Amino acid sequence: MAKLLEYQGKEWLRKAGLPVPVGRAASSPEEAYQIAGEIGKPVAVKAQVQAGGRGKSGAVKLVNTPEEARAAAAAILGTEIKGYPVRQVLVEEKLAIAHEYYVTIIVNSARDARCPMLMFSTEGGMDIESVPEEKIFRLYINPLEGLEVYDAVDMLVKAGIPNDHLLDFANFLVKFWGAYRKYDCFTLETNPLVMTASGELYAADCKMDVDNSSVYRHPEMGIEIARDLGHEPTELDVLGWGIEKTDLRGSGFVMSMGFDEKSPGYIGYHPIGGGSAMMGMDALNNVNLKPANYADTSGNPVASKIYRVAKVVLSQPNIDGYLLGGFMMANQEQWHHAHAVVKVLREVLPQKPGLPCVLLLCGNKEEESLAILREGLKDVPGATRVEIYGREHVTDTDFIGQRLLALVKEYQEEKRK
Ligand code: GDP
Ligand code: MN
Repeated sequence: MAKLLEYQGKEWLRKAGLPVPVGRAASSPEEAYQIAGEIGKPVAVKAQVQAGGRGKSGAVKLVNTPEEARAAAAAILGTEIKGYPVRQVLVEEKLAIAHEYYVTIIVNSARDARCPMLMFSTEGGMDIESVPEEKIFRLYINPLEGLEVYDAVDMLVKAGIPNDHLLDFANFLVKFWGAYRKYDCFTLETNPLVMTASGELYAADCKMDVDNSSVYRHPEMGIEIARDLGHEPTELDVLGWGIEKTDLRGSGFVMSMGFDEKSPGYIGYHPIGGGSAMMGMDALNNVNLKPANYADTSGNPVASKIYRVAKVVLSQPNIDGYLLGGFMMANQEQWHHAHAVVKVLREVLPQKPGLPCVLLLCGNKEEESLAILREGLKDVPGATRVEIYGREHVTDTDFIGQRLLALVKEYQEEKRK
């Protein structure tokens, strides 16, 4: 995923010349003990998860001795924060905080901006949403010209930074922009940016999100999956990313959605395009079936790519059905989908006989596509619950959902026997 953990982001900030507290990540209480010993001062022990608000939820602990660091790590490791399991903690020197500031650079896509935008506030440490508007200062950055010290100083004066600190802050912001540029970030945030009692600045927290499309330019960062999954990558996610990574012809997106034992049935979900995916969800929701995964093969991908996506979708062991949801009149030539799905189902159905498959395709080359599906699947062993639909049902989410549910019930009944 292109969102980095705090300790990873801080490593890159450090390499870009920014001041970061001394510290390292630990995976066990023992390791935390050892790192705290090496630092030889009071430390902060911080849960490493893709979620904010750790301060408030007790996942940032300030301690004085290596023994206390070990205990703090033991208390935090293995817990869950906002659904993310804590596998690592960052152990770093505790800062003597005099004041907390907020700084972030994001892409402002508004019509009158369309450029990176730096936001700065003297009210750091808390959620930026709770900071009053007049306390947030914005600076648009022309990416071709970059950020100059005098631009930063200008803004910092408005924000009320005293004269004797102006240059330190400005230099920090210029380097911060440098890191944003260097790592092709989408978002780079430090909250809090800390001024210590002795007047030094430190990036005390870091949220670095590398632009998914630029991840390929940064092999040094070792980002496994350039996608915002909202969960830790599963095997399916890794397979899915492998398809997209090497083949840019149309989209071939697959990601897992997570399982809940109580659901009446999971479906290998293969919608075509975003709007179509929403209608397909309607079809599933109406009959209380759940998607095991999200997928998308739109933008005219080639058959070989669609084949790989469908194969991954159908490889999920706990599905009771497959929905190819072309809930739109696609202008892409649908026969690529037809060829791909025929090939996959000819391989899969003999292994999973009777698996419900509802296939909806319409749009360009529809008749030919439906003929390919019918012809290709007619004598396949195990293809006993395959239903093929075209434009007459393109907006008929109720009907498609009902058909799928009826087949799923039969299939589950048959499996119980
Ligand atoms: P977040 O709540 O998940 O964003 O985690 P942060 O890294 O921002 O930490 C939350 C709060 O913990 C900060 O705003 C600080 O008040 C406090 N904190 C974090 N690191 C230190 C530190 O080294 N020294 C001190 N005194 N406080 C810290
Ligand atoms: Mn923070």
